[in-house]
Amino acid sequence: MARSSRDIFDQHLAPTTPFPLGLEIARAEGSWLYDPQGNAYLDLIAGVAVSNLGHGHPEVKKAIHEQVERHLHLMVYGEYIQSPVNNLADALTQRLPAALETCYFTNSGAEAIEGALKLAKRVTGCSEIISFRGSYHGSTHGALSVSGNESKKQAFRPLLPDVRFLPFGQLGPLKGAITEKTAAVIVEPIQGDAGIRIPDRAFLQALRDRCNESGALLIFDEIQSGMGRTGELFAFSHWGVVPDVLCTAKALGGGLPLGAFIARAAHMRAFTAYPMLGHITTFGGNPVSCAAALATLEAIEREALLEGVEAKGALIERALQDPRVKEIRRKGLFMAIEFATPQEVQHIVQYCLARGGHAFWFLSCPESFRLAPPLNISDADLKHGCAVIREAIEQLDSISL
Ligand code: PLP
Repeated sequence: MARSSRDIFDQHLAPTTPFPLGLEIARAEGSWLYDPQGNAYLDLIAGVAVSNLGHGHPEVKKAIHEQVERHLHLMVYGEYIQSPVNNLADALTQRLPAALETCYFTNSGAEAIEGALKLAKRVTGCSEIISFRGSYHGSTHGALSVSGNESKKQAFRPLLPDVRFLPFGQLGPLKGAITEKTAAVIVEPIQGDAGIRIPDRAFLQALRDRCNESGALLIFDEIQSGMGRTGELFAFSHWGVVPDVLCTAKALGGGLPLGAFIARAAHMRAFTAYPMLGHITTFGGNPVSCAAALATLEAIEREALLEGVEAKGALIERALQDPRVKEIRRKGLFMAIEFATPQEVQHIVQYCLARGGHAFWFLSCPESFRLAPPLNISDADLKHGCAVIREAIEQLDSISL
């Protein structure tokens, strides 16, 4: 008997939740996803802050096709000179402060975090890591160890030792906690999965100052906030506080898997000795992913997308003003809409999906839902999406949750 695609999904794909969205998508274009029957869904989350140019951007597809014709994988990371990888490293570092001069490419965000943590240990000779409550840095053992969501970690202990968690955004505890024993302070300059928590500049500057005083490396995790999501290429530019190590991924690859940690050349050389090959990867910096990434970066600039991000965020914020909305937290199009209860959020996300609009939850903030549409979404599509969300909000009064 023919099995449905849902049967195969349920039987042969490892689940991550008892309630997967289970939406079947056959193709995607611009800000729209289409199921096999041709029903359209407005993508208001961009694959969780990945598809910042929407789906099927012609320049990204062209770069991928051209690179596929030249070559796919050739050799493990760091041995051959490959122009797509070189060109991307050159383009990224030209757009970053001078200290962020050397890229180590990975396949994912979590791997960028793993590399950054190992780098900090190797450079400082210390093992203690300072992180923040509510943070999310990935699901591998090291990245999970430095993530601040206790409920996701307990089942997997023992994790990395020597990790301490501080309250995000508070200056008081920093002085005593960041010491000459600290290898790294790892922080999302805007916490994403904690529900878009935006600190004061003073907090990030205090981290920078304490790291300067103690010798610890300051790692910024911009895996979610980077590549234009907040209206700057990387969010740290809003505050002008520069990390020692910048981690990026998600939108970097323009829809293909790619991450990077970026630091001083002198620091990166630590991986070449005692032991040599101190950090290695087979696929990191895949040439097709790097070609897509460069095309993405260039399209963001050519289309002046960063200039439009704040206005689009403000449009959503205005459209969703409602007494039932407790708070809207956002920087550009990095956005959380908060309600009184998780049940209201469940209703809104499900209602939108049923009406062809895709919003999504956060890992560690059940009272809010996330919006992270493509940066080039049209105002007309945004208004349509907001109208669907408003319908869902207006229903809250008439249903019992
Ligand atoms: N760091 C942050 C801030 C993230 O949002 C994520 C993913 O959501 C990660 C790290 C992990 O990235 P990946 O899922 O590519 O391993």
